[in-house]
Amino acid sequence: MKEYAFGIDLGGTTAKVGLFTTSGQLVEKWEVPTDTSEQGLRILPNLAAAVQAKMQEKGLTSDQVEGVGIGVPGPVQESSVVPIVCANLGGWGQQDVAANLSALLGGIRVMVGNDANVAALGEIWMGAAKGCRSAVMVTLGTGVGGGVIVNGKVIDGAHGAGGEIGHITVNPHETATCGCGKHGCLEQYSSATGVVRCMKLLLEANPDQPCVLRGRDFAAKDVFDAARAGDALAAREVDEMANVLGLALATIAATADPEVFLVGGGVARAGEVLFKPLAEHYKTYAFKSCRETPIKQASLGNDAGIYGAVRLIVGA
Ligand SMILES: [Zn+2]
Repeated sequence: MKEYAFGIDLGGTTAKVGLFTTSGQLVEKWEVPTDTSEQGLRILPNLAAAVQAKMQEKGLTSDQVEGVGIGVPGPVQESSVVPIVCANLGGWGQQDVAANLSALLGGIRVMVGNDANVAALGEIWMGAAKGCRSAVMVTLGTGVGGGVIVNGKVIDGAHGAGGEIGHITVNPHETATCGCGKHGCLEQYSSATGVVRCMKLLLEANPDQPCVLRGRDFAAKDVFDAARAGDALAAREVDEMANVLGLALATIAATADPEVFLVGGGVARAGEVLFKPLAEHYKTYAFKSCRETPIKQASLGNDAGIYGAVRLIVGA
């Protein structure tokens, strides 16, 4: 094993890049703007240039670099190919990212993974699930992402849809449409956007009930803050959100039965006001033998992706 590896978390506006030792110590991290013009033509050349500039700055030769791992916001096949166009990367995709980035880096080994799966891999390697062989992570942000790790390996599935936890149907009676085109997906209730949407519906449906959020422009964080402060209608929304999330996790438990569930993303920062009802609802839906599976907050925050990307390279 060589001494160093790079981890990249490619996002729509910036790519986070980390230089690590192969034992998982973060040496340095920085960000590179993602240039999505011309169908993202410059994305890989810019990343290659950033890696090469850092190698030069640190006096590293390719003999000292084990490889480059990269998490991308789309499905990935064979740890290499992005088969479809990624909507938030200006039409980038449909290419063998591993082969193309490797060629730009003079043959340095490259491994590719879906960003949510890669974040889960980071948490199981160096984060809140450290030491576990299996974990399921759900990331609650603008959308809901997921990563499923069994025996140290990402389950990406036959179509790259393994871990698409946000699109588990939790309400077959929903009439509003999810970003994916379906109705009643977890993401419609448990993402930051979903919490705000559902809170607005609750306010409309209960015009006579006082609520500190009424008549205000609010974010998901405000809903949790209000619930924590004792606002009954906000507390009801948090409970309903925790209920569908608990239902989804219990469904996953009956399929993958992980050692631990991790919840990450901005919404997870709500803390106990979310985790307490979530654990209670989870228990009511979970099959007996996995009823006590812990549900923890992810611990690597925005760095989970770069840690996991390096884990792709250094192996389980
Ligand atoms: Zn959906």
